[in-house]
Amino acid sequence: MAYPNLLAELDLGFTKLRNRVVMGSMHTGMEDRFWHYPKLATYFRERARGGVGLIVTGGISPNREGWLLPFGGTLNSVFDLRNHRLVTDAVHDEGGKIALQILHAGRYGYQPFVVSASAIRSPISRFKPRELTVAGIARTVRAYARCARLAQRADYDGVEIMGSEGYLINQFLCPRTNRHTDGYGGSIDNRLRFAREIVEAVRAACGEHFIIVYRMSLIDLVDGGNTWDETLQLAHALEAAGVTMFNTGIGWHEARVPTIVTSVPRAAFAPLAARLKAAVKVPVIVSNRINTPEVAEQLLAEGMGDLVSMARPLLADPDFVVKAAANRADEINTCIACNQACLDHTFQNQRATCLVNPRAGRETELVYRPLAAGAAPRSVAVIGAGPAGLSAASVAAARGHRVTLFDAADTIGGQFNLAMRIPGKEEFSETIRYFGSQLARHDVELRLGTRVDAALLDGGAYHDVIVATGIVPRRPRIDGIDGPNVLSYVDVLRGAPVGRRVAVIGAGGIGFDVSEFLLHRAGDPLPQPRDVWLDEWGVDLDVRERGGLKPPHIEPAPREIWLLQRKAGKPGAGLGKTSGWVHRSVLARHGVKMLGGVTYREVSARGLRIERGGVEEWLEVDTVVVCAGQESLRDLYPQAPRADAGKAAAAAAVSRVSSGGVETRYHVIGGAALATELDAKRAIREGAELAARL
Ligand code: FAD
Ligand code: NAP
Ligand code: SF4
Repeated sequence: MAYPNLLAELDLGFTKLRNRVVMGSMHTGMEDRFWHYPKLATYFRERARGGVGLIVTGGISPNREGWLLPFGGTLNSVFDLRNHRLVTDAVHDEGGKIALQILHAGRYGYQPFVVSASAIRSPISRFKPRELTVAGIARTVRAYARCARLAQRADYDGVEIMGSEGYLINQFLCPRTNRHTDGYGGSIDNRLRFAREIVEAVRAACGEHFIIVYRMSLIDLVDGGNTWDETLQLAHALEAAGVTMFNTGIGWHEARVPTIVTSVPRAAFAPLAARLKAAVKVPVIVSNRINTPEVAEQLLAEGMGDLVSMARPLLADPDFVVKAAANRADEINTCIACNQACLDHTFQNQRATCLVNPRAGRETELVYRPLAAGAAPRSVAVIGAGPAGLSAASVAAARGHRVTLFDAADTIGGQFNLAMRIPGKEEFSETIRYFGSQLARHDVELRLGTRVDAALLDGGAYHDVIVATGIVPRRPRIDGIDGPNVLSYVDVLRGAPVGRRVAVIGAGGIGFDVSEFLLHRAGDPLPQPRDVWLDEWGVDLDVRERGGLKPPHIEPAPREIWLLQRKAGKPGAGLGKTSGWVHRSVLARHGVKMLGGVTYREVSARGLRIERGGVEEWLEVDTVVVCAGQESLRDLYPQAPRADAGKAAAAAAVSRVSSGGVETRYHVIGGAALATELDAKRAIREGAELAARL
């Protein structure tokens, strides 16, 4: 049997889970509005059909004070039950189990009714909380119990009480945020009393035959967090109060240590779950940066936990479990931990979806219908096997069309072949592997090493031609830019020699990535081993000091780097909300000088002459690397580029009759359609949407 530990049933006495896969809680945005519940139900139905053992919903507040955002999802009235039953019925129809996550945001709430253990504002919210009094605490405990009982009446199999990531319960648990001088503050016994009373009240309200998962913060990663001994004391108190199992959380949201972005080594924090498991009798769920069945199986085989929580990997592929069970793990669409379409959307108040799976959260809107019986397949040529072309080719072929995919290169993947060379972005290779498996599975004819021209297309008599030829890097007009000491980012990532002092022109996503690439010392292993990464970020898995922080160990940088942009202001401001700060922090810690408001004057053997604030200076560098954006490459699209090309161009099809008399529709997608704000999320989505319409 494939993955015997991961796929083993778990008997909880009063109920059984069909395997050890937990879909971790994720805020999608759909749980906040009652009219989205039919969509939410379909989203969860697909994950249950895909074999997940236990699904945990996005966070639902027990009362108004606990809202994360104004009018966030709340379960405090019988009028809400009908919507929730749409969700529970869908999951149960597919043989799955589902728990409602009760999340009280405390001082992380982005709304004016926020409360906390004490009136201390969080660094990531502008709303100062009101301190909960003893009466307020009792009222909040009752709200948790009422919410859990309502969840039970809506046929949830259990609840997850969110006690980690710095939300309200965490705020009571730690001296950082709890200044109570009554029975809820001071000693750890007092600080954990709120959590214990919640679990006791929920157990009393829902009886013995109801799953209570408590998500516990194993390491807070902030000053004034808890020690390991205090965490264990909490675990024992909650076990006695009646939890069914522990889920695990890592770091508060305000922590300055990354916990889930792609550069965090896989399963980096699992040893903490193992220590908890050794100390308690109830099952423990291990979490954070686990994205393949191999890693999940290994963790369970090594006894690091009893179940594995994966959240984003199940956005990326709802069929993760059934594919693993059928020994088709190579077909899993792996989450690359980019956060671009899930967490970044949530922070921008948009519905969460997934960069590698644009159907996530849009299951009822983006449907890949097989061709109707008797319908003639269309003959489709896709030019360019980058993310856009790969997505279009695999969806069109899966629906039943006859697809030929061309690329001038001798490998698929387009620019993802460069992205995966960036230290910490190795995961991007998984997307290439996934699409490769889809091309084979759906019989796409792959013609690599073939540079397509208009004559080839004309002779092919295709019904549809999809131009997904991507971009060419921009060469800015600067005196001396053609000199031997100037390289494009493509040259650098393909291994061209680079000097010790480097100026990078352009501080967009690629300028940052290339700077990180240049900070890598030849010979250092990639991906970064866990212990090296933990030392670099100052994480002590023994949690000897409060919060588990220690002084970071930063190796001296092998190069001196200037990262430049013309815009005034801080470089990197346009990077992703949840990952940009990590990139800025890595460069700053390694002494990269990030300058805005720069005018480029000339390049010569001396280096790069710039002007800044009216002052000219020479950056005496050995190499200048150009990362100044891109321009679309779409000469195969038979329509002159328009100034407003882009979204409109991607949607439009232009018809031409080939010399053989076949009418061919031409489409353009991805970087070829729009090079500014070029990103893989749009490229993959445009490919899928177009192929779904063919
Ligand atoms: P491309 O990936 O450029 O693919 C176009 C393909 O067309 C190429 O393979 C090319 O060989 C082929 N082609 C061109 N002309 C012809 C022809 N005439 N005949 C045959 N084949 C042809 N995006 C993100 O969203 N997140 C990131 O973190 C991220 N990181 C990046 C890091 C780096 C270092 C780089 C370089 C890019 C990164 N990107 C990232 C951008 C992302 O890779 C692009 O958005 C994406 O690749 C665009 O996809 P595409 O299919 O439109 O074009
Ligand atoms: P970009 O983000 O558009 O940045 C281009 C940079 O070049 C900017 O700093 C721009 O700043 C500068 N520039 C533009 N025209 C110039 C000119 N004529 N002369 C000199 N400088 C010029 O593009 P990118 O960095 O090439 O990245 C492409 C896309 O890939 C990104 O937009 C992103 O979507 C994706 N990507 C994402 C990530 C990620 O972490 N999410 C990482 C890599 C790539 P000034 O105009 O101010 O100088
Ligand atoms: Fe994973 Fe990125 Fe998809 Fe989020 S958007 S689920 S991080 S691949």
